[in-house]
Amino acid sequence: MPGMVTSIQRFSLNDGPGIRTTVFFKGCNLRCAWCHNPETIRLQNDLLAYPEKCIACGHCVPVCPTGAHARVPSGIAFDRTKCTACGRCAEICFPGAMELAGYRRTGEEVLAEVTQDIAYYRDSNGGVTLSGGEVFCQPQFAKELIDDCVAADIPIAVETNLCWEFDAMRPMLEKLSLVMFDLKLWDDAEHLRWTGVGNALIKENIAKLDALGIPLIARTPLIPGATDNAENITAIAHFLAPLKNLQYYELLNFNPLGESKYRALGLENPFEAARPLSAAMVDPLRTAAAAAGIQVKVG
Ligand code: SF4
Ligand code: SF4
Repeated sequence: MPGMVTSIQRFSLNDGPGIRTTVFFKGCNLRCAWCHNPETIRLQNDLLAYPEKCIACGHCVPVCPTGAHARVPSGIAFDRTKCTACGRCAEICFPGAMELAGYRRTGEEVLAEVTQDIAYYRDSNGGVTLSGGEVFCQPQFAKELIDDCVAADIPIAVETNLCWEFDAMRPMLEKLSLVMFDLKLWDDAEHLRWTGVGNALIKENIAKLDALGIPLIARTPLIPGATDNAENITAIAHFLAPLKNLQYYELLNFNPLGESKYRALGLENPFEAARPLSAAMVDPLRTAAAAAGIQVKVG
């Protein structure tokens, strides 16, 4: 069954151990106000427009079925309200001023791509990581890729928000070599405020996940004014401390790289002015987490 991905990134070093290929799924069930991959949120195509790259060649004007591109005296005007994200302009826009986020891929196509680097996975203890977006938004596609990788003897990991019915995830989770999950906010009302959902199900699932015996990495993004306070990090770290399979707890510093994507998607970015935390701000949080007796890393 085909699934929708935004990209397949080979030789990735940040999505688990060793050399990996990361498959970015499209679609997410949370709405984190700071999302740094906003092009992965919707389970539909999105067009990213970078007018600063446009050379006004005009090739997009005749190919657009809805008339979203038009010649104007200053160059080319793009009217997003007319765009259906069909992707035709992105196909012919050589300078990359128009980019499509969202491609349908079959499991066979993805497997053909990820198996190209099997030798690297073996030499580096790497493998494949399914990321997103949220992997379990496309459960059939996720199941197919997990089964295919297991059959090809490729270790497979998942990055997930764990905000799903556990019994629906369990048959997939049991086949993984690693699960990387987020717990962004300890307080349920704060979690609801910043992500659009409460966190009771996530907390419940973390305990159930630990019982499966799979290696785990827990993560909290450090978001200025939202998650980056010692009270939040301390509470999460103490919750994680009894887990038997936790490899480490990772604090991920704020990543402003999504900023240009918000503009390109025509979306408002609530964290436009935010910047990564300084070392002086991160260190006390690392110390607070480590006081729970767990290994802490900063990414
Ligand atoms: S095809 Fe691309 S570069 Fe050419 S006018 Fe259209 S948006 Fe600009
Ligand atoms: S994605 Fe399709 S509808 Fe949107 S501007 Fe490009 S050609 Fe037109």
